[in-house]
Amino acid sequence: MMVVVLLGAPGAGKGTQAPALAARLGVPVLASGDLLRGAVAAGTALGREADRYMSRGQLVPDETIVKVFLDRLHAPDALDGAILDGFPRTEVQAVALDDALEAEDRRVDRALYIDVPLEALVQRMANRRICAANGHVYNLASNPPKVDGVCDLDGSALRQRADDAEATVRARMDQQVPPLLEVVEHYRRRGVLETVDGTVGIAGTTAGLVEALGGSAPAAG
Ligand SMILES: [Zn+2]
Repeated sequence: MMVVVLLGAPGAGKGTQAPALAARLGVPVLASGDLLRGAVAAGTALGREADRYMSRGQLVPDETIVKVFLDRLHAPDALDGAILDGFPRTEVQAVALDDALEAEDRRVDRALYIDVPLEALVQRMANRRICAANGHVYNLASNPPKVDGVCDLDGSALRQRADDAEATVRARMDQQVPPLLEVVEHYRRRGVLETVDGTVGIAGTTAGLVEALGGSAPAAG
């Protein structure tokens, strides 16, 4: 059982790396949004609890999210462990998760931080284009379409999402990066942090993550 927390700023590549890493390890990715929606759809007691907040547009309390994660960690496909994506987002959540895992004699075995400099992140997002028809994703620098402004797969127009405009990206970073760095420091203090270079391409970053997990075996249990 290896509980891995994957950390990175918006655009650092968590969404791409989480499934790649999960396939290598043979464990599921537990993404907070998916888990909450899944619990609500399944109509479990926890799902109904979460839904009381979500249906009013309120944030689901940390204790509820932690319970949803623990519940999911008990599922048969997570016997060997899981990769947590999108949680914890704050130091308070990280402490709540530690406490809940400790109560079950478990812990976060590794926190992997995909490190990408802020300016590189802003550029990545500013270069992102999405096709109008099917949401295919391009990057003008690293993954450009064959024809300017046109999706390779369906010929529809490529657009920049309002969310990816530079000023919006910078505002989002200002909001999300400070709490992320507190979570990173939390795991550094716990001695389980590995920082992985996220500027070396998708395959290079995956290799770095795998190496970080194999670098030294976690204590049994
Ligand atoms: Zn397309």
